[in-house]
Amino acid sequence: MRYISTRGEAPALNFEDVVLTGLARDGGLYVPETWPQMSHQEIRDLAGESYAEVAAIVLQPFLGDSVSPSDFRQMTEKAYGAFSHKAVVPLSQLDANDFLMELYHGPTLAFKDVALQLLGLLYDHLLGRKNKKVTIVGATSGDTGSAAIEACRGRDAVDIFILHPAGRVSDVQRRQMTTVLDSNVHNIAVDGDFDDCQALVKALFNDLDFRDQYAVSAVNSINWARVMAQIVYYFTTAISLGGPGRAISYSVPSGNFGDIYAGYCAAKMGLPIEQLIVATNRNDILSRFFNTGEYIKEGVDPTISPSMDIQVSSNFERFLFDLYGQDGAAVKEMMRQLDEDGGFTVNMSQLNNATFSAAKCDEQETLDVIAKTLKENGKLVDPHTAVGLKAAADCRRNVKTPMVTLATAHPAKFPAAVEKATGHYPELPGHMADLFEREEKMDHLPNDLSSLQTYIRERARILSAD
Ligand SMILES: *Cc1c(COP(=O)(O)O)cnc(C)c1O
Repeated sequence: MRYISTRGEAPALNFEDVVLTGLARDGGLYVPETWPQMSHQEIRDLAGESYAEVAAIVLQPFLGDSVSPSDFRQMTEKAYGAFSHKAVVPLSQLDANDFLMELYHGPTLAFKDVALQLLGLLYDHLLGRKNKKVTIVGATSGDTGSAAIEACRGRDAVDIFILHPAGRVSDVQRRQMTTVLDSNVHNIAVDGDFDDCQALVKALFNDLDFRDQYAVSAVNSINWARVMAQIVYYFTTAISLGGPGRAISYSVPSGNFGDIYAGYCAAKMGLPIEQLIVATNRNDILSRFFNTGEYIKEGVDPTISPSMDIQVSSNFERFLFDLYGQDGAAVKEMMRQLDEDGGFTVNMSQLNNATFSAAKCDEQETLDVIAKTLKENGKLVDPHTAVGLKAAADCRRNVKTPMVTLATAHPAKFPAAVEKATGHYPELPGHMADLFEREEKMDHLPNDLSSLQTYIRERARILSAD
């Protein structure tokens, strides 16, 4: 399997190099050159297998020669053994044909654990055998940071630097990051919003000398391995609900477009999907795009679903590349327009046969859905999941098709919003019960590339990659 850049100018790489690099050297993102195909019979044969086994089978074609099937099988077993629910990603039922995909049973209570627990093991495996090290730098709107830190803490081959927008993540989210005291973990609160953090990380990656010297690697969803790992749960849930014999619809609370793009990848591989619903909060660049064809930046408003407070969705570029028949020059031009003119427009006819629909959910609607879901189903959902439920109801075309809403975080991760909606303060699960008593460690930096580089220079344990 070869991976190519969405901007068409960086060299093609194998899986190993794509995982260790993250962003392509031409500023693009790596995507598989071709989509591995699974026949209906091959998908049916996954029925009854464990989550770890399905992951090993579905993902193997993406690995090429970089990881052997037996090593990979061990990794999926170990990564998903760390989840607190034996089914790893269980489904719960809300109505005759409405389901929640519970993605929050990992160590940090959000869906990002599903990919990052596996990525941590991949780093160890790929680096350990070469005696190499990497410096991981990532920006987080809240959940990626804690999941990445949890996956990388204490690992010899990795130093991890996580930027978060100061004061714009929830207390639980911040503490899940800053109370990890391992010496290879560095938390940075940046004066700015999430897009500022993400832009700093991109700028750091585009400083190729710095990037080479410190072997900088990405754990954001620009890293292909993250998207890849998320493909699996579209398969496992479809199989539980009668796929591939019938198509399933999914509603996905979206920010950086990584999670829903993984669903698009599953469809490309042959999984029958009827609708992929892009659910956004009031920071709605994605839902505006899918309804109008215009991708235009606006400011970011803080919301009660902060992990989706994003205006530029990095994985969206991967989707555009596919939409334009892998035309890297066209994508490069659109990204130039986005940078210089603040947006671009895609012909709607080009979007027509895609499975996507999109809707947004404002703050009051989010609270109303949380309250209603508790009242009618006895189920407490977090604000991101509520946004997904609202969009599912708004966009659904066929009541007979099972609708699966991705429950992307545990309600206890966003207790203030849940309490405001329902009067119930959701308790943290046992392993985190003392989170608010633990010591915190973090540093503040201005929104400025050279300060960030100095900070990393003073702390990263590798001076050069070989
Ligand atoms: C990251 C996150 C999202 C958004 O996922 P993307 O892959 O960035 O679209 C939604 N909900 C929660 C709880 C998250 O942590």
